[in-house]
Amino acid sequence: MHEVWTISECHQGRVKDVSYELLARGRSLADTLKVRLGTVVIGSNINTDDVKQLAYQGADILYLADDPSLSSFVCGRYAALLLKLISEKKPQIIIAAATTSGRTLMPYVAVKAHAGLTADCTELAIEEGTENLLQTRPAIGGNIMATIKTPGHRPQMATVRPRSTKPLAAQHDRPFVVEEVPVAPRSEKSSVEVLGLRGLEGQSGSIEEADIVIAGGKGLKKRDNFVLIERLAKAFGAEVGASRDAVDRGWVSYPHQVGLSGKTISPRLYLAAGISGAIQHLAGIKTAKCIVAINNDEQANILGLADFAIIGDLFQVLPEIEKRLEQRRK
Ligand code: FAD
Repeated sequence: MHEVWTISECHQGRVKDVSYELLARGRSLADTLKVRLGTVVIGSNINTDDVKQLAYQGADILYLADDPSLSSFVCGRYAALLLKLISEKKPQIIIAAATTSGRTLMPYVAVKAHAGLTADCTELAIEEGTENLLQTRPAIGGNIMATIKTPGHRPQMATVRPRSTKPLAAQHDRPFVVEEVPVAPRSEKSSVEVLGLRGLEGQSGSIEEADIVIAGGKGLKKRDNFVLIERLAKAFGAEVGASRDAVDRGWVSYPHQVGLSGKTISPRLYLAAGISGAIQHLAGIKTAKCIVAINNDEQANILGLADFAIIGDLFQVLPEIEKRLEQRRK
């Protein structure tokens, strides 16, 4: 019975929240197929409580690759390990998060494993009768939802947007198995050596995993004004997002870009100020839970998707929101 797998991401030994979201997806697929749900955990000095938590929240079997050489994500090394495990265990489905590392690792592994991969899925289901994985994702700039399947190849691989699923409640009496994965010594030939890690300027976490994203566009007029976005993001404890025009102008760096050629995000709250809502931008925010748009043009495209609109001058509205937040805190 070929298992369903998720890839659990680790950072500095701690399992990242998105890994528990993936287990909820995987659990439902594994239950439909009546097979075990496995999760592959790769890292160094992995927290043992987190490992148990993965089992409590859905995993039946944990493939644990814990080695100092795996402390940082190096695609070739992680892929080699995963490919060996795939060839031994032959899972039928592998899902990973559509994070920077998930989006780097999965295509690499898919090509080497001659498997199909659908990136950035919003829905996953099992097709009745064939038991193929139905992988649904926005396509054509987010204007349609396309359902993709790869009947001729195994494993079937998909990445899933972070924050698009709720983790399952922990069940502390779930039985589980931990299987240690042997880690080959690091090859002297490796072309990548990690010297250290440094956070991006102005970004405390990743916008794909952020609960709240405050984004600015060309309506801010110049770089100096972008501090209005940065200040409000700080006040909300949020991450900073941006339209491509703002990024192209050098007001903020590319990892903040939201949209078709940037990040797709699903925050609880997305606030867009001075962003018109071109289809390429909207493609990145279709699954946000609540969209608030601040725009002085009541015909702006983004208002068609927004849950709340503030029609007005962002140079007045943004400082006013910041002021009210401060007042509420006092
Ligand atoms: P604009 O469209 O110029 O909008 C500025 C908005 O600010 C307007 O709605 C205006 O009414 C408002 N405004 C102005 N002044 C004020 C004020 N004082 N108060 C309030 N509101 C004000 N774009 C992305 O964002 N992400 C992508 O990933 C992306 N990928 C692309 C990929 C391709 C292949 C292509 C062709 C394009 C892509 N684009 C992407 C570009 C996209 O088409 C738009 O050009 C871009 O999103 C526009 O950015 P903007 O909304 O900041 O600027």
